[in-house]
Amino acid sequence: MEHYDIIIIGTGAGGGTLLHKISTSGKKILVLERGNFLPKEKANWDTIEVFQKERYHTKEVWKTEGDKDLHPGTGYWVGGNTKVYGAALFRLREKDFERIQHAGGISPEWPLKYADLEKYYAEAEELFCVHGKMGIDPTEANRSGEYPYPAVSHEPRIQELHDVLQNKGLHPFYIPLGVKLNETDMLASACIRCNTCDGFPCLLHAKSDADINCVRPSTQKNSNITLLTGAKAVRLNTNPNGRSVISVDVELNDTLQQFEADLFVLSAGAINSAALLLKSANTIHPGGLANSSGQVGRNFMKHQNAAMLGISTKKNPTVFQKTLALNDFYWGEADYKYPMGHIQLLGKANKDMLRADAPFFTPGMVLEEMAEHSIDWWMTGEDLPVADNRVQVINGEIHLDYKENNTEGFNRLVNKWKHILKEIDNGDSFIPHGIYMRKTIPLSGIAHQVGTARFGTDPTGSVLDIYCKTHDMDNLYIVDGSFFPSSGAVNPSLTIIANALRVGEHLLERIR
Ligand SMILES: Cc1cc2nc3c(=O)[nH]c(=O)nc-3n(C[C@H](O)[C@H](O)[C@H](O)COP(=O)(O)OP(=O)(O)OC[C@H]3O[C@@H](n4cnc5c(N)ncnc54)[C@H](O)[C@@H]3O)c2cc1C
Ligand code: SF4
Repeated sequence: MEHYDIIIIGTGAGGGTLLHKISTSGKKILVLERGNFLPKEKANWDTIEVFQKERYHTKEVWKTEGDKDLHPGTGYWVGGNTKVYGAALFRLREKDFERIQHAGGISPEWPLKYADLEKYYAEAEELFCVHGKMGIDPTEANRSGEYPYPAVSHEPRIQELHDVLQNKGLHPFYIPLGVKLNETDMLASACIRCNTCDGFPCLLHAKSDADINCVRPSTQKNSNITLLTGAKAVRLNTNPNGRSVISVDVELNDTLQQFEADLFVLSAGAINSAALLLKSANTIHPGGLANSSGQVGRNFMKHQNAAMLGISTKKNPTVFQKTLALNDFYWGEADYKYPMGHIQLLGKANKDMLRADAPFFTPGMVLEEMAEHSIDWWMTGEDLPVADNRVQVINGEIHLDYKENNTEGFNRLVNKWKHILKEIDNGDSFIPHGIYMRKTIPLSGIAHQVGTARFGTDPTGSVLDIYCKTHDMDNLYIVDGSFFPSSGAVNPSLTIIANALRVGEHLLERIR
């Protein structure tokens, strides 16, 4: 059996970044990734393939609410879900790390504060080539410096929207984006500002994802790293006293293989990491590995998410739309003291995306007209950690149970935004007062999955210690979104990346 110094399981935002951080350590590293490299093909930018046929999603079926089938909107690729993400790379707010009273309950305090993560956020922004402009977002935390790259500019219709919102006293700002764009010399730019970015893989490899920015450069430059694709970890095995992981069982090319290491880093995504720990139960750990607290798989969060189309008479010819966001209501408003959430633009919707959600009898022409006139929004609200929102493994299958919570502030945000959009529409509407279509995202929309192995200082109430090492095992770390004690209301990836850099620094010390 091959023995390694370190085995990393999963190559998404967490695992890919950690690999980058420790790649030059000279240690013998094995990377296990159940997916393959996502093919570079024309279908990368084909809306029917990506949105209607879900070409890049797993065909795996999970269970929910007892025995109902759940088709998870997730993909298994080198780079994980960052292959298709919108690359909106936000830092959490300073107060997100504190105990916050929401209308629906308490968002718990983190064991680390924003100041502890700031330098890793800066390193993460550099690694993922983030474009942005500091000092506009009213909720922005203190930054040690400007973004590494200039903000991605608004196209004319979005600039117009920006100006109107600003004249109303709001504070629209540029979305921090991880794309390799050079607007001063588009001929030299890898990114072409296309209309198939948010939710699509990048055919030009110009999106900053964990594959292109971390895994490929690390494996190409360092012969000490072995990457096995199509390698699904199915069980972690412990030594006789149960304190250390000694090996991992892996399904590879239709065979079951075993690999040993001194250190293991699990980063299979918040749901799959919890499932692997639970599946690895043995006589010493009957409730699953690292689960003496009973918290593994619990406190699953995914944000409250809603998409909204604002359709007016004015055409929206914007190509790359995901440039503007607002946090004016993140912490509430004058007559409402509870957090409400975050608003950002989506990638520009087209008729084939709308078709994926429309009833089959909606004529193509109507969808085309709607898409040509819409401005497309994405809203996220914080959901709170609840023990019964959880991942379980029953008869070898993943069961995911989730009940919405803390909806009051978020519903207020959606209604508030609808109201503001109507006001700024100047009666210039497609249909009187415009159409503001809200779509709540179902449970299969697990893009923002976090929380299933939270970190903390109390081993009875958390799974991971402050360095994301499991309290129960002396050589098992987790660096995907599992560690979040609360979800905040902005997209999670930059925090996962920053934390992986922090844990990577700790591991470099440990293995020196
Ligand atoms: C359409 C979409 C848009 C998004 N947009 C944004 C955005 O704009 N901004 C943002 O911050 N976030 C966004 N996200 C979320 C973002 O992609 C995730 O937060 C991030 O990828 C999570 O990182 P992770 O390391 O926790 O997991 P993942 O990136 O999912 O990585 C997990 C990895 O583990 C592998 N794996 C799983 N099980 C096993 C196993 N048993 N053995 C071996 N390997 C395994 C998977 O194949 C995968 O490579 C988006 C997600 C989607 C789907
Ligand atoms: S906008 Fe840029 S990064 Fe995004 S898919 Fe298009 S070319 Fe790639």
